[in-house]
Amino acid sequence: MNLYGIVVAAGRGERFGSPKADLVVQGLALWQWAAAALEGSGSAGVIVVGAVPGGVPGGARRRDSVAAGLAALPADATHVLIHDAARPLATAALAEAVVARLAVGDVDGVVPALPVGDTIKRVEGERVIETVLRTGLVAVQTPQGFRLEVLRAAHAADTDDATDDAQLVERHGGSVVYVPGETTNLKITYPEDLAVAEALAP
Ligand code: C5P
Repeated sequence: MNLYGIVVAAGRGERFGSPKADLVVQGLALWQWAAAALEGSGSAGVIVVGAVPGGVPGGARRRDSVAAGLAALPADATHVLIHDAARPLATAALAEAVVARLAVGDVDGVVPALPVGDTIKRVEGERVIETVLRTGLVAVQTPQGFRLEVLRAAHAADTDDATDDAQLVERHGGSVVYVPGETTNLKITYPEDLAVAEALAP
């Protein structure tokens, strides 16, 4: 397995209110936290996508930024971890667990995930339509690990948007499994999330 990492740190941060690339937690930019977790998991190198020093320019959608990272990988890469800069608290141990499952060699992708804690309802406008059965639902995190060949084929197969890379692989018929995620691996989506990350950071 010749493993590389990609950290996506581009985008406009619409829900946050500003781009997230330069946000800092305990003196380190979010993308530096994310890159450190991948480096700690045995990645031979990490490519950062976004307007950061040494970064590759990002794209309009997350999947376009991932594609920019995939295009910048060295030719000898066989497996890849894709990680959101917006998840600075994922540990190297989590990345290692994803890689360990991927190394078994029987699946195309591995995602960290946790059972859904909240009650989930489908709504239309303000109206609650139904309560979705929580059994069998998980909330998915990054870093996500893939056989590079399969992830590249999945990216080439369609141009529809996707909120994570596993979704592209699933759509393309690939096999994806999950390993337990981390409760502290929160995603910085709104400004108040940054204060929580600051308090939780090691
Ligand atoms: O916008 P969202 O919170 O879903 O972004 C998830 C991750 O994808 C973030 O780390 C963000 O920097 C990255 N992203 C990107 N390029 C985009 C949109 C999002 O690299 N065009």
